[in-house]
Amino acid sequence: MSSAVANERDGHNVSEDEGAELVSAYAIEAEREAEATLRPRRLSEFIAQHRVREQLDLLLQGAMRRGAPPEHILLSGAPGLGKTTLAMIVAAELGAGLRITSGPAIERSGDLAAVLTSLSTGDVLFIDEIHRIARPAEELLYSAMEDFRVDVVVGKGPGATAIPLDVEPFTLVGATTRSGLLTGPMRDRFGFVGHLDFYEPSELDVLLHRSARILGVALTDDGATEIAGRSRGTPRIANRLLRRVRDFAEVRADGIVNTVNAQAALRVYDVDDLGLDRLDRAVLTALVRSFGGGPVGLSTLAVAVGEQPDTVEEVCEPFLGRAGLLARTPRGRVATAGAWRHLGLTPPDRLALTNLLGQGPAGRPDTLGNGATPVPDLFTQDP
Ligand code: ADP
Repeated sequence: MSSAVANERDGHNVSEDEGAELVSAYAIEAEREAEATLRPRRLSEFIAQHRVREQLDLLLQGAMRRGAPPEHILLSGAPGLGKTTLAMIVAAELGAGLRITSGPAIERSGDLAAVLTSLSTGDVLFIDEIHRIARPAEELLYSAMEDFRVDVVVGKGPGATAIPLDVEPFTLVGATTRSGLLTGPMRDRFGFVGHLDFYEPSELDVLLHRSARILGVALTDDGATEIAGRSRGTPRIANRLLRRVRDFAEVRADGIVNTVNAQAALRVYDVDDLGLDRLDRAVLTALVRSFGGGPVGLSTLAVAVGEQPDTVEEVCEPFLGRAGLLARTPRGRVATAGAWRHLGLTPPDRLALTNLLGQGPAGRPDTLGNGATPVPDLFTQDP
Protein backbone atom coordinates (compact mmCIF):
# COMPACT_ATOMS: atom_id res chain seq x y z
CA MET A 1 0.00 0.00 0.00
CA SER A 2 1.28 3.48 -0.70
CA SER A 3 2.60 5.26 2.35
CA ALA A 4 0.10 8.06 1.93
CA VAL A 5 -2.83 5.74 2.25
CA ALA A 6 -1.33 3.80 5.12
CA ASN A 7 -0.68 6.94 7.09
CA GLU A 8 -4.02 8.45 6.30
CA ARG A 9 -5.69 5.35 7.65
CA ASP A 10 -3.57 5.10 10.76
CA GLY A 11 -3.73 8.59 11.94
CA HIS A 12 -4.56 11.13 9.40
CA ASN A 13 -1.38 12.27 7.78
CA VAL A 14 0.61 11.33 5.41
CA SER A 15 3.74 11.05 3.41
CA GLU A 16 6.70 13.40 3.33
CA ASP A 17 7.27 12.32 -0.20
CA GLU A 18 5.36 14.91 -2.09
CA GLY A 19 6.76 14.03 -5.47
CA ALA A 20 5.44 10.51 -5.40
CA GLU A 21 1.94 11.54 -4.40
CA LEU A 22 1.38 14.53 -6.59
CA VAL A 23 -2.17 13.68 -7.54
CA SER A 24 -3.18 12.15 -4.23
CA ALA A 25 -6.24 13.89 -2.80
CA TYR A 26 -4.95 13.33 0.74
CA ALA A 27 -2.99 16.05 2.44
CA ILE A 28 0.77 15.72 2.60
CA GLU A 29 2.27 16.78 5.93
CA ALA A 30 4.77 19.12 4.30
CA GLU A 31 2.03 21.12 2.59
CA ARG A 32 -0.09 21.91 5.65
CA GLU A 33 1.32 25.41 5.88
CA ALA A 34 0.88 26.13 2.18
CA GLU A 35 -2.71 24.90 2.44
CA ALA A 36 -3.42 27.14 5.40
CA THR A 37 -2.28 30.19 3.41
CA LEU A 38 -4.69 29.32 0.62
CA ARG A 39 -7.74 28.51 2.73
CA PRO A 40 -10.66 30.88 2.16
CA ARG A 41 -11.68 32.43 5.47
CA ARG A 42 -15.25 33.46 4.67
CA LEU A 43 -18.16 31.81 2.92
CA SER A 44 -18.11 34.46 0.19
CA GLU A 45 -14.51 33.49 -0.71
CA PHE A 46 -15.30 29.78 -0.92
CA ILE A 47 -15.40 28.87 -4.61
CA ALA A 48 -18.19 26.84 -6.25
CA GLN A 49 -20.38 24.35 -4.27
CA HIS A 50 -23.18 26.90 -4.60
CA ARG A 51 -25.91 24.76 -3.10
CA VAL A 52 -24.04 23.86 0.08
CA ARG A 53 -22.81 27.42 0.41
CA GLU A 54 -26.26 28.91 0.16
CA GLN A 55 -27.76 26.37 2.55
CA LEU A 56 -24.99 26.99 5.07
CA ASP A 57 -25.41 30.72 4.71
CA LEU A 58 -29.10 30.45 5.61
CA LEU A 59 -28.37 28.12 8.52
CA LEU A 60 -25.72 30.41 9.98
CA GLN A 61 -27.62 33.65 9.45
CA GLY A 62 -30.73 32.14 11.00
CA ALA A 63 -28.80 30.98 14.04
CA MET A 64 -27.12 34.33 14.48
CA ARG A 65 -30.48 36.11 14.34
CA ARG A 66 -31.81 33.85 17.05
CA GLY A 67 -28.62 34.20 19.07
CA ALA A 68 -28.32 30.41 19.42
CA PRO A 69 -25.74 27.97 18.03
CA PRO A 70 -26.83 26.43 14.71
CA GLU A 71 -27.75 22.77 14.41
CA HIS A 72 -24.99 20.21 14.04
CA ILE A 73 -23.50 20.07 10.55
CA LEU A 74 -22.33 17.01 8.63
CA LEU A 75 -20.13 17.52 5.57
CA SER A 76 -19.47 14.60 3.27
CA GLY A 77 -17.32 14.33 0.18
CA ALA A 78 -14.02 13.03 -1.15
CA PRO A 79 -10.71 14.20 0.35
CA GLY A 80 -9.45 17.62 -0.67
CA LEU A 81 -12.82 19.14 -1.63
CA GLY A 82 -13.00 21.68 1.20
CA LYS A 83 -14.64 20.09 4.25
CA THR A 84 -12.04 21.33 6.76
CA THR A 85 -12.08 24.73 5.10
CA LEU A 86 -15.87 24.93 5.47
CA ALA A 87 -15.69 23.92 9.14
CA MET A 88 -13.26 26.76 9.76
CA ILE A 89 -15.49 29.12 7.82
CA VAL A 90 -18.50 28.13 9.96
CA ALA A 91 -16.61 29.12 13.11
CA ALA A 92 -15.35 32.35 11.52
CA GLU A 93 -18.80 33.36 10.25
CA LEU A 94 -20.28 32.73 13.70
CA GLY A 95 -17.40 34.53 15.40
CA ALA A 96 -17.05 31.37 17.50
CA GLY A 97 -14.10 29.44 18.88
CA LEU A 98 -13.00 26.33 16.96
CA ARG A 99 -11.69 23.03 18.31
CA ILE A 100 -10.37 20.49 15.82
CA THR A 101 -9.98 16.76 16.27
CA SER A 102 -10.53 13.61 14.25
CA GLY A 103 -12.32 10.30 14.61
CA PRO A 104 -9.14 8.20 14.74
CA ALA A 105 -7.69 10.49 17.44
CA ILE A 106 -10.62 9.75 19.74
CA GLU A 107 -9.87 6.26 20.96
CA ARG A 108 -11.53 6.34 24.36
CA SER A 109 -14.71 8.03 25.49
CA GLY A 110 -12.66 9.83 28.16
CA ASP A 111 -10.71 11.62 25.40
CA LEU A 112 -13.93 12.93 23.94
CA ALA A 113 -15.43 13.83 27.33
CA ALA A 114 -12.37 15.98 28.05
CA VAL A 115 -12.80 17.86 24.77
CA LEU A 116 -16.55 18.29 25.16
CA THR A 117 -16.48 19.53 28.74
CA SER A 118 -13.83 22.11 27.91
CA LEU A 119 -15.92 23.78 25.19
CA SER A 120 -17.22 27.31 25.75
CA THR A 121 -20.76 28.36 24.83
CA GLY A 122 -21.20 28.59 21.06
CA ASP A 123 -17.89 26.91 20.18
CA VAL A 124 -17.59 24.87 16.99
CA LEU A 125 -16.14 21.39 17.41
CA PHE A 126 -14.80 19.95 14.15
CA ILE A 127 -14.38 16.16 14.02
CA ASP A 128 -12.74 15.04 10.78
CA GLU A 129 -13.26 11.46 9.59
CA ILE A 130 -16.09 11.17 12.08
CA HIS A 131 -17.08 7.72 10.78
CA ARG A 132 -13.90 6.35 12.36
CA ILE A 133 -14.70 7.38 15.91
CA ALA A 134 -14.59 4.48 18.43
CA ARG A 135 -18.04 3.14 19.35
CA PRO A 136 -18.09 4.04 23.10
CA ALA A 137 -17.01 7.59 22.23
CA GLU A 138 -19.70 7.75 19.57
CA GLU A 139 -22.35 6.94 22.15
CA LEU A 140 -21.06 9.66 24.44
CA LEU A 141 -21.24 12.06 21.52
CA TYR A 142 -24.95 11.29 21.00
CA SER A 143 -25.93 12.64 24.40
CA ALA A 144 -23.63 15.62 24.03
CA MET A 145 -25.17 16.49 20.66
CA GLU A 146 -28.73 15.99 21.78
CA ASP A 147 -28.89 17.03 25.42
CA PHE A 148 -25.61 18.87 25.94
CA ARG A 149 -24.57 16.52 28.70
CA VAL A 150 -22.32 13.52 29.02
CA ASP A 151 -22.14 10.71 31.54
CA VAL A 152 -18.56 10.03 32.49
CA VAL A 153 -18.06 6.61 34.00
CA VAL A 154 -15.64 6.51 36.90
CA GLY A 155 -14.21 3.23 38.16
CA LYS A 156 -14.66 -0.29 36.86
CA GLY A 157 -16.88 -3.29 37.43
CA PRO A 158 -19.78 -3.22 39.92
CA GLY A 159 -18.40 -0.14 41.69
CA ALA A 160 -18.40 1.99 38.54
CA THR A 161 -20.52 5.13 38.71
CA ALA A 162 -21.67 7.49 35.99
CA ILE A 163 -21.17 11.15 36.75
CA PRO A 164 -23.33 13.45 34.61
CA LEU A 165 -21.50 16.52 33.35
CA ASP A 166 -22.95 19.49 31.49
CA VAL A 167 -21.61 20.50 28.11
CA GLU A 168 -22.01 24.12 26.94
CA PRO A 169 -24.22 24.49 23.86
CA PHE A 170 -21.93 23.93 20.88
CA THR A 171 -22.10 23.10 17.19
CA LEU A 172 -20.54 19.92 15.96
CA VAL A 173 -19.20 19.96 12.42
CA GLY A 174 -18.49 16.39 11.35
CA ALA A 175 -16.67 15.57 8.13
CA THR A 176 -16.60 12.23 6.40
CA THR A 177 -15.24 10.81 3.18
CA ARG A 178 -17.42 7.70 3.69
CA SER A 179 -20.90 8.81 4.70
CA GLY A 180 -22.13 5.26 4.08
CA LEU A 181 -20.11 4.10 7.08
CA LEU A 182 -21.84 6.45 9.50
CA THR A 183 -24.27 4.77 11.85
CA GLY A 184 -27.94 5.70 11.54
CA PRO A 185 -28.19 7.23 15.04
CA MET A 186 -25.16 9.39 14.32
CA ARG A 187 -26.48 10.63 11.01
CA ASP A 188 -29.89 11.39 12.55
CA ARG A 189 -28.36 13.78 15.04
CA PHE A 190 -27.14 16.18 12.39
CA GLY A 191 -29.63 18.91 11.52
CA PHE A 192 -27.79 19.83 8.35
CA VAL A 193 -26.11 17.48 5.90
CA GLY A 194 -24.09 18.95 3.02
CA HIS A 195 -22.43 16.98 0.27
CA LEU A 196 -19.43 18.39 -1.58
CA ASP A 197 -19.10 17.40 -5.23
CA PHE A 198 -16.00 17.27 -7.39
CA TYR A 199 -15.26 20.64 -9.03
CA GLU A 200 -15.66 21.43 -12.70
CA PRO A 201 -12.46 22.46 -14.52
CA SER A 202 -13.90 25.98 -14.95
CA GLU A 203 -14.37 26.22 -11.16
CA LEU A 204 -10.80 25.06 -10.55
CA ASP A 205 -9.73 27.70 -13.01
CA VAL A 206 -11.19 30.40 -10.76
CA LEU A 207 -9.66 28.72 -7.71
CA LEU A 208 -6.21 28.63 -9.33
CA HIS A 209 -6.35 32.32 -10.20
CA ARG A 210 -7.26 33.09 -6.59
CA SER A 211 -4.39 30.93 -5.28
CA ALA A 212 -1.94 32.49 -7.75
CA ARG A 213 -2.91 35.99 -6.53
CA ILE A 214 -2.29 34.97 -2.92
CA LEU A 215 1.03 33.27 -3.72
CA GLY A 216 2.16 36.07 -6.03
CA VAL A 217 2.48 33.70 -8.98
CA ALA A 218 2.15 34.96 -12.56
CA LEU A 219 -0.53 32.63 -13.94
CA THR A 220 -1.92 32.98 -17.45
CA ASP A 221 -5.46 31.91 -18.39
CA ASP A 222 -4.19 29.05 -20.54
CA GLY A 223 -1.83 27.95 -17.75
CA ALA A 224 -4.77 27.81 -15.33
CA THR A 225 -6.84 25.79 -17.81
CA GLU A 226 -3.97 23.36 -18.32
CA ILE A 227 -3.57 22.75 -14.58
CA ALA A 228 -7.32 22.68 -13.88
CA GLY A 229 -7.81 19.90 -16.43
CA ARG A 230 -5.26 17.70 -14.66
CA SER A 231 -6.46 18.25 -11.12
CA ARG A 232 -9.05 15.46 -10.84
CA GLY A 233 -11.79 17.88 -9.82
CA THR A 234 -10.02 18.47 -6.51
CA PRO A 235 -8.89 21.86 -5.09
CA ARG A 236 -6.10 20.31 -3.02
CA ILE A 237 -4.56 18.75 -6.14
CA ALA A 238 -5.03 21.94 -8.18
CA ASN A 239 -3.20 24.00 -5.56
CA ARG A 240 -0.44 21.41 -5.32
CA LEU A 241 0.09 21.26 -9.08
CA LEU A 242 0.17 25.06 -9.18
CA ARG A 243 3.01 25.11 -6.63
CA ARG A 244 4.97 22.46 -8.54
CA VAL A 245 4.54 24.22 -11.87
CA ARG A 246 5.56 27.50 -10.24
CA ASP A 247 8.80 25.84 -9.03
CA PHE A 248 9.48 24.57 -12.51
CA ALA A 249 8.70 27.92 -14.11
CA GLU A 250 10.99 29.74 -11.70
CA VAL A 251 13.90 27.32 -11.96
CA ARG A 252 13.79 26.28 -15.60
CA ALA A 253 11.90 29.06 -17.37
CA ASP A 254 10.72 32.64 -17.15
CA GLY A 255 8.74 32.25 -13.91
CA ILE A 256 5.38 32.47 -15.66
CA VAL A 257 2.87 29.67 -15.22
CA ASN A 258 1.54 29.26 -18.75
CA THR A 259 0.55 26.25 -20.86
CA VAL A 260 4.05 25.53 -22.09
CA ASN A 261 5.59 25.57 -18.61
CA ALA A 262 2.66 23.66 -17.11
CA GLN A 263 2.94 20.93 -19.73
CA ALA A 264 6.71 20.67 -19.33
CA ALA A 265 6.55 20.65 -15.52
CA LEU A 266 3.82 18.03 -15.35
CA ARG A 267 5.74 15.86 -17.78
CA VAL A 268 8.63 15.96 -15.30
CA TYR A 269 6.25 14.99 -12.50
CA ASP A 270 4.63 12.30 -14.61
CA VAL A 271 1.11 13.69 -14.47
CA ASP A 272 -0.61 13.29 -17.82
CA ASP A 273 -3.23 15.46 -19.50
CA LEU A 274 -6.12 13.81 -17.66
CA GLY A 275 -4.35 13.99 -14.30
CA LEU A 276 -3.31 10.33 -14.28
CA ASP A 277 -0.03 9.53 -12.59
CA ARG A 278 2.41 6.68 -13.16
CA LEU A 279 0.45 4.12 -11.15
CA ASP A 280 -2.90 5.00 -12.74
CA ARG A 281 -1.38 4.52 -16.17
CA ALA A 282 0.34 1.30 -15.10
CA VAL A 283 -3.04 -0.09 -14.02
CA LEU A 284 -4.68 0.84 -17.32
CA THR A 285 -1.74 -0.43 -19.34
CA ALA A 286 -1.71 -3.79 -17.53
CA LEU A 287 -5.46 -4.11 -17.95
CA VAL A 288 -5.29 -3.42 -21.65
CA ARG A 289 -1.99 -5.02 -22.65
CA SER A 290 -1.80 -8.01 -20.34
CA PHE A 291 -5.49 -8.84 -20.00
CA GLY A 292 -6.92 -7.68 -23.31
CA GLY A 293 -9.02 -5.03 -21.53
CA GLY A 294 -10.48 -7.40 -18.92
CA PRO A 295 -12.55 -8.43 -17.12
CA VAL A 296 -9.81 -9.25 -14.62
CA GLY A 297 -9.91 -9.64 -10.84
CA LEU A 298 -8.57 -6.92 -8.56
CA SER A 299 -5.80 -9.00 -7.01
CA THR A 300 -4.54 -10.23 -10.38
CA LEU A 301 -4.44 -6.67 -11.62
CA ALA A 302 -2.66 -5.50 -8.46
CA VAL A 303 0.01 -8.19 -8.81
CA ALA A 304 0.55 -7.13 -12.42
CA VAL A 305 1.44 -3.59 -11.32
CA GLY A 306 3.33 -4.67 -8.19
CA GLU A 307 0.94 -2.97 -5.75
CA GLN A 308 -1.37 -4.02 -2.94
CA PRO A 309 -4.98 -4.61 -4.03
CA ASP A 310 -6.30 -1.95 -1.66
CA THR A 311 -3.93 0.66 -3.08
CA VAL A 312 -5.25 -0.06 -6.56
CA GLU A 313 -8.81 -0.10 -5.28
CA GLU A 314 -8.69 2.99 -3.10
CA VAL A 315 -6.07 5.15 -4.78
CA CYS A 316 -6.45 4.49 -8.50
CA GLU A 317 -9.87 3.10 -9.19
CA PRO A 318 -12.11 5.86 -7.87
CA PHE A 319 -10.64 8.38 -10.28
CA LEU A 320 -10.23 5.97 -13.19
CA GLY A 321 -13.88 5.04 -12.75
CA ARG A 322 -15.02 8.65 -12.50
CA ALA A 323 -13.01 9.53 -15.60
CA GLY A 324 -14.81 6.78 -17.50
CA LEU A 325 -11.60 4.80 -18.11
CA LEU A 326 -12.22 1.74 -15.96
CA ALA A 327 -15.40 -0.05 -15.00
CA ARG A 328 -15.88 -2.37 -12.03
CA THR A 329 -18.12 -5.26 -12.88
CA PRO A 330 -19.03 -8.40 -10.93
CA ARG A 331 -16.71 -10.33 -13.24
CA GLY A 332 -13.76 -8.02 -12.71
CA ARG A 333 -12.22 -4.77 -13.87
CA VAL A 334 -12.74 -3.71 -17.46
CA ALA A 335 -10.97 -1.05 -19.53
CA THR A 336 -13.36 1.20 -21.45
CA ALA A 337 -12.88 2.27 -25.04
CA GLY A 338 -11.72 5.62 -23.63
CA ALA A 339 -8.93 3.85 -21.75
CA TRP A 340 -7.63 2.22 -24.93
CA ARG A 341 -7.69 5.53 -26.72
CA HIS A 342 -6.04 7.33 -23.81
CA LEU A 343 -3.12 4.90 -24.12
CA GLY A 344 -2.95 5.61 -27.85
CA LEU A 345 -4.47 2.25 -28.81
CA THR A 346 -7.47 1.31 -30.91
CA PRO A 347 -10.25 -0.22 -28.82
CA PRO A 348 -11.34 -3.70 -29.90
CA ASP A 349 -14.48 -3.94 -32.00
CA ARG A 350 -16.70 -5.12 -29.16
CA LEU A 351 -15.94 -1.85 -27.29
CA ALA A 352 -16.17 0.33 -30.37
CA LEU A 353 -19.58 -1.20 -30.97
CA THR A 354 -20.73 -0.53 -27.43
CA ASN A 355 -19.51 2.97 -27.82
CA LEU A 356 -21.63 3.48 -30.89
CA LEU A 357 -24.68 2.06 -29.18
CA GLY A 358 -23.57 3.19 -25.84
CA GLN A 359 -24.44 6.81 -25.93
CA GLY A 360 -27.92 5.27 -25.50
CA PRO A 361 -29.49 4.07 -22.27
CA ALA A 362 -26.60 1.94 -21.02
CA GLY A 363 -24.04 4.67 -21.44
CA ARG A 364 -22.97 7.23 -18.89
CA PRO A 365 -22.09 10.69 -20.09
CA ASP A 366 -18.42 10.95 -20.80
CA THR A 367 -17.32 13.81 -18.59
CA LEU A 368 -13.87 13.98 -20.09
CA GLY A 369 -15.11 14.22 -23.64
CA ASN A 370 -12.97 11.40 -24.91
CA GLY A 371 -15.67 8.94 -25.77
CA ALA A 372 -15.19 6.65 -22.81
CA THR A 373 -17.63 4.41 -21.11
CA PRO A 374 -20.61 2.23 -21.34
CA VAL A 375 -18.99 -1.13 -20.95
CA PRO A 376 -20.42 -2.29 -17.63
CA ASP A 377 -23.74 -3.54 -18.92
CA LEU A 378 -22.07 -5.50 -21.68
CA PHE A 379 -19.98 -7.42 -19.20
CA THR A 380 -22.53 -7.91 -16.50
CA GLN A 381 -25.02 -9.57 -18.82
CA ASP A 382 -25.10 -13.31 -18.59
CA PRO A 383 -23.51 -14.91 -21.62
P1 ADP B 1 -10.86 18.34 2.98
O1 ADP B 1 -11.02 18.72 4.42
O2 ADP B 1 -12.18 18.10 2.30
O3 ADP B 1 -9.90 17.22 2.76
P2 ADP B 1 -9.65 20.97 2.75
O4 ADP B 1 -10.74 21.82 3.33
O5 ADP B 1 -8.47 20.71 3.64
O6 ADP B 1 -10.25 19.60 2.21
O7 ADP B 1 -9.19 21.67 1.38
C1 ADP B 1 -7.97 21.35 0.76
C2 ADP B 1 -7.35 22.60 0.16
O8 ADP B 1 -8.15 23.02 -0.92
C3 ADP B 1 -7.24 23.77 1.13
O9 ADP B 1 -5.98 24.38 0.99
C4 ADP B 1 -8.29 24.73 0.69
O10 ADP B 1 -7.81 26.02 0.76
C5 ADP B 1 -8.53 24.39 -0.77
N1 ADP B 1 -9.96 24.51 -1.07
C6 ADP B 1 -10.88 23.54 -0.93
N2 ADP B 1 -12.10 23.95 -1.35
C7 ADP B 1 -11.94 25.23 -1.74
C8 ADP B 1 -12.84 26.22 -2.28
N3 ADP B 1 -14.13 25.94 -2.49
N4 ADP B 1 -12.35 27.43 -2.58
C9 ADP B 1 -11.02 27.70 -2.39
N5 ADP B 1 -10.14 26.81 -1.90
C10 ADP B 1 -10.57 25.59 -1.58
